[in-house]
Amino acid sequence: MCCNHYQAMDLQLLEETLAAHDQPRFRARQVWAWTARGARSFEEMTDLPASLREALAGELPFSSLELRDEAHAGDGTVKALFATVDGRPLEAVLMRYREPSPLRTRQRRTICVSSQSGCPLTCTFCATGQMRFARNLTASEIVDQALHFRRLEGDAGQVTNCVFMGMGEPMLNLDNVLGACELLPDLGIGHRHTAISTVGWIPGIERLAEQEMPLRLALSLHAADEALRSELMPVNDRYPLADVIGACHAFYARKRRRVFVEYVMLAGVNDRYEQALALARLLAPARAGEQTIFKVNLIPYNPTDSPFEGSTRASIAAFRDVLLAHEIPVTIRLTRGRDIDAACGQLAARSP
Ligand code: SAH
Repeated sequence: MCCNHYQAMDLQLLEETLAAHDQPRFRARQVWAWTARGARSFEEMTDLPASLREALAGELPFSSLELRDEAHAGDGTVKALFATVDGRPLEAVLMRYREPSPLRTRQRRTICVSSQSGCPLTCTFCATGQMRFARNLTASEIVDQALHFRRLEGDAGQVTNCVFMGMGEPMLNLDNVLGACELLPDLGIGHRHTAISTVGWIPGIERLAEQEMPLRLALSLHAADEALRSELMPVNDRYPLADVIGACHAFYARKRRRVFVEYVMLAGVNDRYEQALALARLLAPARAGEQTIFKVNLIPYNPTDSPFEGSTRASIAAFRDVLLAHEIPVTIRLTRGRDIDAACGQLAARSP
């Protein structure tokens, strides 16, 4: 942790309040250290003078977000619905993975955070795309989603991973997303365990490639041909598939970090044999030495109000086998939190 973290975040209000109380500069660091470790109130920050704790509690909101609702799914997934100070809705999800892994000292816990309230893009299969776009979230509002779950889990179950796969397009709010990413390691979430997912917003991919932080890139692809992709994701008219794949290659060349490709399986739309072949061709040559550049995640479609239907398990498996036959690493994503509408593409807050 270093001082410029505070400039990256809207802990500005904290600094101003501390300054108004003639406090030394290190106080902000103290407060942040407590917060990042999951403190629930200023009262808990026992190395601060009692009078200061009281003053902070009276003058400063502890979070920039207000929790409006929390849903717990049978599989341990938790979805939180928040409102910003100006009443904008957003959601974030915590996924707990129960299976203990001998290779990990900590159990994986992944949070899925929002970068915007709503989304200005209009991908046809995504629930967020159907709600009204409100605005970009600030770095604080992003970090506060993570802090909420940090507090919920306590020290026993620290959050280990973060994906920007909640509401919004992170590349349209990259300054604040990166500002938040700078702070996440203080919560125990390393840059290598943080992934930014994009529809293929090329200027954002290029900026991410220039970043010092070793953040991961995920690309929402969903179709390997231009016409179908434009139909599913109108943003493809602006940044065509071929150029987006080019930007991913450049990202890999620069960062040497594998790119995750997300592909939502839609019955009769993008799940046919020829389409799997086209995807395999698009992602090849996928090899750079031992490592492959792309790793595909096939995502079972989660029902939204859209006219689409999800592919059957058998056709998802067949699609996977085509990719495997072409040596493209591929996994089928476990669907989590579907019973609470917390699965991918289902985050559409009704008005809080
Ligand atoms: N805008 C960014 C970040 C959101 S990520 C992006 O699109 O990458 C949300 C992920 O969930 C994306 O891969 C998206 O395509 C996927 N998704 C959207 N709707 C879905 C649905 N109904 N079922 C399964 N996945 C969906």
